[in-house]
Amino acid sequence: MTEEEPRIRLVMELRRLGIKDLNVLSAMERVPRDEFVPAPFRERGWDNLALPIGNGQTISQPHIVAFMSEALEVGDRHKVLEIGTGSGYQAAILSTLCRRLYTIERVKPLLQTAERRFEIMRLQNIVTRWGDGTRGWPDQGTFDRIMITAASPSVPPPLLDQLGPGGVLVAPIGPLDGEQSIVRIRRTESGFAEEILLDVRFVPLIAGPTHEG
Ligand code: SAH
Repeated sequence: MTEEEPRIRLVMELRRLGIKDLNVLSAMERVPRDEFVPAPFRERGWDNLALPIGNGQTISQPHIVAFMSEALEVGDRHKVLEIGTGSGYQAAILSTLCRRLYTIERVKPLLQTAERRFEIMRLQNIVTRWGDGTRGWPDQGTFDRIMITAASPSVPPPLLDQLGPGGVLVAPIGPLDGEQSIVRIRRTESGFAEEILLDVRFVPLIAGPTHEG
């Protein structure tokens, strides 16, 4: 089997599952997902599976990463905020689609591992922060796009405040003990418009103090 095969197999599966955006498909092919998972899972890095990344957290299934990236309608001039860095994989995908990607993680060792990966891969347009993402990143002004990669019953209000005019936010919303849906919220002239896109299950968004290890 050649080096390329697992990547191509994944991209073909994503197409079959309905992902159409060529920039997203190309990012999914280029960003080495196997380098974002712990060593014991590396061989499964290109499979369409969620995998454990430590601290009780998971790297999302590639289909969900591609689906949420496509739903976010990211452009190369956009300033984008991600909540829940985790492994750093979703951040890496978004960073290839936008101008600058800001990402916040509350668990310090996860953030540090992700930062090392960004450095090794020379993803220089990613800015990281250790903290509680439910408050957003107020000293950065507003964002064109915001993605939350952990589930909550509703979108934390500071994140809606930090969405700029015409901005789009994509997040898994719903009860933490059941199914959530990927929801897309658009900031319109008169308020917010919401669409429900896909049923999913995510690890929870946890507000409050950060976690050292
Ligand atoms: N985007 C990640 C998915 C990680 S799972 C990836 O591509 O791997 C969700 C992540 O959200 C976990 O790492 C969890 O620690 C983090 N998280 C949960 N609540 C948070 C909060 N309030 N602020 C920042 N990060 C949070």
